[in-house]
Amino acid sequence: MKLGILGDIHGNLEALQTVLADAKEEGINQFVSVGDLVGYGPNPKECLEVIRDELKCPCVKGNHDELASQDVSTMSFNPIAAEAITWTRNQLDEDHKKYLRGLPMRRLLGDYELVHATLDMPKSWGYVFDRLAAASSMNYQNTPVCFFGHTHVPMVFVKEGLTRESPVRLERNWSSLELKPGWRYFINVGSIGQPRDGNPKCAYVIFDMEKQVVTIKRLDYDIAAVQYKIRQAGLPEKLATRLEHGK
Ligand code: ZN
Repeated sequence: MKLGILGDIHGNLEALQTVLADAKEEGINQFVSVGDLVGYGPNPKECLEVIRDELKCPCVKGNHDELASQDVSTMSFNPIAAEAITWTRNQLDEDHKKYLRGLPMRRLLGDYELVHATLDMPKSWGYVFDRLAAASSMNYQNTPVCFFGHTHVPMVFVKEGLTRESPVRLERNWSSLELKPGWRYFINVGSIGQPRDGNPKCAYVIFDMEKQVVTIKRLDYDIAAVQYKIRQAGLPEKLATRLEHGK
């Protein structure tokens, strides 16, 4: 079975539809998501409905999902993200917010797990960019693979062994990876809606569970159409320009 893993969609419907069309060609009919369905992008409601109703996709909660579904202060966010959260709150109906509030922080699905930020302190929304942060999370990982998001930068951390002391290394420049039995993998699937690794193409990951191979795909999508919608909605200009730079 081939599984599609969707990360940080952020209300970008054009990118999500591009990914789903590609996944169909790849023969994928089951999806999971590592959260942040909403925030930043101009179609939070539509993206949420695709995940919840169309795909019936198991999902974990992201920090934007949390903030957009509650009436709490946006002080913890930078001004641009906070402005987008306020806008997003006004787009969502109560049933959307209820769905977002009900999402779990982490989700165990057979022999893999999902989390938005880290397994050690999922509610602190820490950013994993290095081996030290990855190792802290992997101490709490009980499955061979855990998929995560939050940084919008695809990365694979590998632990060659199961003890606390086993070293963790960062696998650079990967596009396809064969999982080895007995090793642990902490895999950032990149972002569909707002990539930040300098590559504006949207990202998603395919997990071939029979072959135990994880592959990342990068796809062109209609960035101009999303930028137009962002400007029409009156969202901050930077949210439009950053899409073409992938930053
Ligand atoms: Zn995000």
